[in-house]
This record gives sequence, C-alpha cells and structure tokens, in this order.
Amino acid sequence: MTDTLEADTRQIAFEQFARNFARALLTTPVGWLVVLAMAWGRAPTAALWAWFGAALACWVLCIAQSQWSRRQGFDVARHRLSAWASAFLDGIGWGMVPLFLMGQDPTLDARLAAVLCGVVAVTLGIYITAPEALRLQVAGTWVGIVLSSLLGAGPDGAIVLGLAVMHVLALFFLPGITARVVDGIRLQQANARLAEQLRLHLLTVEEEAATDPLTGVLNRRALDRLLAREIERCEAQGGMVSVLALDLDHFKAVNDTHGHAVGDEALRAFARRIRGPLRQSDHLARLGGEEFIVLLPGAPVSNALEIAERLRASVAEAPLVDVPRVAVTVSIGVAAFRPGDRGTDLLARADTAAYAAKRSGRDRVVLAEG
Ligand code: GH3
Ligand code: MG
Ligand code: MG
Repeated sequence: MTDTLEADTRQIAFEQFARNFARALLTTPVGWLVVLAMAWGRAPTAALWAWFGAALACWVLCIAQSQWSRRQGFDVARHRLSAWASAFLDGIGWGMVPLFLMGQDPTLDARLAAVLCGVVAVTLGIYITAPEALRLQVAGTWVGIVLSSLLGAGPDGAIVLGLAVMHVLALFFLPGITARVVDGIRLQQANARLAEQLRLHLLTVEEEAATDPLTGVLNRRALDRLLAREIERCEAQGGMVSVLALDLDHFKAVNDTHGHAVGDEALRAFARRIRGPLRQSDHLARLGGEEFIVLLPGAPVSNALEIAERLRASVAEAPLVDVPRVAVTVSIGVAAFRPGDRGTDLLARADTAAYAAKRSGRDRVVLAEG
C-alpha cells in the first residue's frame, strides 16, 4: 500500500514535470526572438546563424523526446532517463548563447545574462517536482559557459559570477519547495485511496444490511424498502405488483429428524430453488424462520398465480437435500396490489392466504380473498 502510494506519487510528480516541460518547449522560440532582437546588429551575423542552428538542433531533439514521451503517457519508469537527457540538452541549448553570442559586446553580454537569468526563473516553475532535472539543465548551460571561457571568449568574470550565484540559489532552494509540493501530491493520493476504501466499505455494509445471513437472499428490512418503492410506483403510474408468501410445510420435523444444521442447509437449498426461475427484476426475501416472500413487480394476479404454482411444483418435485434426504413441500399465499394498500396490508393478505393453504392440506397455492 505504502509502496504503491510512493510509486504513484513519483509518477504524478514526474508527469507534472514532463507535461510542463513539453509545454514550455513550445514557448522556447519566444526566447529566441528576444535573443535575436537583442543581438541583431551587435553580434556578427555568422555567429547569430551559428547560435540559431545549434539552439534549434538541441530544441528539435528535446521536442522529439517530449512528444514521444507524451504519446506514451509520460511513464516515469520508461521516460525518466530520456527526460533528464532532454533537460540537459535544453540547458546546452541555452548554453549556446554565451558560447556564440557573448564576449563581444559588454552591453549585449549584460542583456543576454538577464535573459539567461529569466530562463532560470521560468524553469523553476517547470522543474518544481523534478529538481534533478533542473540540476542537469543548469549543468547543460554551464557546458556552454565553460566552453566559451576555454575558447577565450564568453562573458566576463562578473557576469559569469552573477549567473553562477543565480544558479546556485535556484538549486539550493528548489528541493525544499519540491518536498512540500510532493508531500501535497502524496497526501492527495492517500486521501483519494481512503475515499475509495470508504466507498467500498459502505457498499459492503449496505449489502450486509440488506442480506439474510443464512440464505444470502434479501432480508426483511430490504423487502420493506422495495415493497414501499413498488407501491409508490403503482400508485403513481397505475402499475401492478404481486406478492407471494411462502411457508415451508412441517419444517419443524426436518429439524427434529436431522438436526438444525441440516435444516439450515435445506433453507439455503430452498432459497436457491426459488431464486432460480425468477426474473432478475423479481425479489426473494426471507422474513424469518422458514417463511419467505417473493415480490413480483409488474405482475398481475394471473401471472403471480402461475409463478407461484411453478415454484410450488419445483419444490415438491425433488428433495432439497440429497444426503440426508430432505424432501419438503411449500404452501404459498398470493396477493396482488390494490390501490390504497400499504406494504403491510399486502403482506398480511398474502400471509392469510398462505395459512388458508395450510388449512386446506398444504403443498398448494391459494389466492387471497377480496
Ligand atoms: P407448518 O407446515 O404449519 O408451517 O409447520 P412448520 O413446522 O413448518 O411450522 P412451525 O412454525 O411450527 O415451525 C417452523 C420451524 O422452522 C420451527 C423451527 O424449527 C424452524 N426454523 C425456523 N427458523 C429456522 C432456522 O433459521 N434454521 C432452521 N434449521 N430451522 C428453523
Ligand atoms: Mg411458519
Ligand atoms: Mg412452516
């Protein structure tokens, strides 16, 4: 859990950097225009073209890397090294400014140094979640500065010192800011995970609160809710709902003969037997003991009688449990919704009909009177 949290945090931090970097690269030509405007007429045209060619070459490689990485979703494991290389190359691109354009005109040097400081300021925001990449970018820029000094050209000592101070400060302060930003990402991720766990937990609790633990069918509480909803729908839209009250016949004898555990197994088998032929939209609930209710949304009474007869026959035709053999029958009372009914009225009529079925010999279906 902690490992994947860290991995996700690393991925998001990298992705944030890589996206910003890809976007910032598209604005690089604006920086070139500024450099061109400053250097025009002050630096030799050949040097300007050489600078432009070198900077363009670096930029094209960076763009190619970032677009490739973007197409594949900025995966940290896959693109980290190439992104770091790209940051280094971007630094070299900016290092071409001192290499080709500085050391010839003090005014131009000062202006270009200001541009290079501006580049650092802008990149701080881009590299906020990747200080390693900033180090590489700065190192790239220094390749150009050092090369220009080795060639006996480049900016004078004061400008080099100024740039160095700027870079050292940036590298010194960025990691502290990064740590806070990455902490924020980690916290956000941890919160999102907790929210998901909570959602799943609530779903389980809701399901458990609606389920009969022995048979796995709906319980009384869930039945009451569904029945109320169906009755509301019938009242509002003039639809139908029918209810079957099922009571196993002589079930006490099953327990007395085979014990409670076999009785429980028979109740589970009964629930499976009844659930099987029902439609997805029908509901089976256990009221308690060996009494069950089937809710048939949209079913008129004729339909409900047919279904009840099918269920009764399916229970009677084969034992519920084979070893030890438990063969039982079921008595079923059928009642259909009448306008003005509450849930309890409907259940009571079905229950009365089930008792009538018992009285008239069991293993039969009886329709509620009235
Ligand atoms: P009748 O045909 O009149 O309905 O007879 P019956 O024996 O089924 O009815 P009665 O209400 O007298 O007894 C119901 C029996 O159901 C009592 C009890 O032994 C059994 N029973 C109720 N709940 C459970 C349960 O959760 N597990 C098991 N194994 N038996 C249960
Ligand atoms: Mg009973
Ligand atoms: Mg019974």
